Amino acid sequence: MARTLFISDLHLANERPVTSECFFRFLGDEALRAATLYILGDLFEYWIGDDELSAPGDRLARRVARGLRQLSDSGVAVHLMHGNRDFLLGTEFCAASGAKLLDDPALVRVADERALLMHGDTLCTDDHDYQAWRRTARSEDWQREFLRQPLATRRETILQLRETSKAVISGKPAEIMDVTPEAVRAAFRRHGVTRLIHGHTHRAGRHDLEVDGTRRERWVLPDWYGPGGYLVIDDAGARLVRF
Ligand code: MN
Repeated sequence: MARTLFISDLHLANERPVTSECFFRFLGDEALRAATLYILGDLFEYWIGDDELSAPGDRLARRVARGLRQLSDSGVAVHLMHGNRDFLLGTEFCAASGAKLLDDPALVRVADERALLMHGDTLCTDDHDYQAWRRTARSEDWQREFLRQPLATRRETILQLRETSKAVISGKPAEIMDVTPEAVRAAFRRHGVTRLIHGHTHRAGRHDLEVDGTRRERWVLPDWYGPGGYLVIDDAGARLVRF
């Protein structure tokens, strides 16, 4: 059976070259031996617009797009979902990388079973401030206003937002930053699936639960702040692999 890989929360950034190198190795090795690669959000630490691809200098953005392009040109299907950091990844990035943009949530067939894919931030329903910000940032008005500004101004704005969000996060109890069990159960029910795969919370693992008398499994992908890793589904089943 074809191998399907899932990654998320790489948070690729110029300041963390080790993670980028790890990603490029992954593209040339494990990912190349897969049939399909799903990137479930936060591939980049932040994304301020696709015009980043044509900005002068040696851009990580361009290297990443090229790396993914090589992979997709080799016949690996690459699917990309927005995260809360890189939700402005658009059609130009997709064209450059050969990745197909996925909705969040997305229902896909993996190993003859339907699986529900999400970034994961919409499951953190106890974090009201964040959900309010998400509604703003995903609105057409906000995005139009933001993208109208010069690249340098946008970068400045995002770096400021990151500083504010770090301060807010450090003042919040840990359970608010995790998924709420009600939101997870609601997602299983709404989509009628037994397998949910998401990232975002950086708490990699497999969680078994029962909803309406049916056993379900929720897989949380690892972030790449540490060693990184991925979820693989193949003949041998589903398992997390850490580098
Ligand atoms: Mn995230």
